[in-house]
Amino acid sequence: MEKCKCTCPPKDWSRWQEYIEPCEGCEEWWRLQSLLHDELRLPVYWPPYEHPDAGNPWPLGSEMWRLWKPNEKAIALYRALAAADRATRRRTKPRQAAMARSREP
Ligand SMILES: [Zn+2]
Repeated sequence: MEKCKCTCPPKDWSRWQEYIEPCEGCEEWWRLQSLLHDELRLPVYWPPYEHPDAGNPWPLGSEMWRLWKPNEKAIALYRALAAADRATRRRTKPRQAAMARSREP
């Protein structure tokens, strides 16, 4: 999901309630987000996970910017998912290498 590149025009926060057609990167991100959410049966609250370095997404000085604070519960879930991903990669890499070797003539 982190490889999905957004090409949407810069957000006009004075018109934040208007619907803007998402770019292909955003469409793909939302598609993957939905799959991940369903597969892991993530909680309904939003965001269910949050990158620890994401920072405040709201325009500087806005009311939402002032009220924002890191979502510790969502950050904890992000870290748990990232750790599970790293563990899975460590377990599957040696197996994939062995399978590749067995296919060699
Ligand atoms: Zn986009």
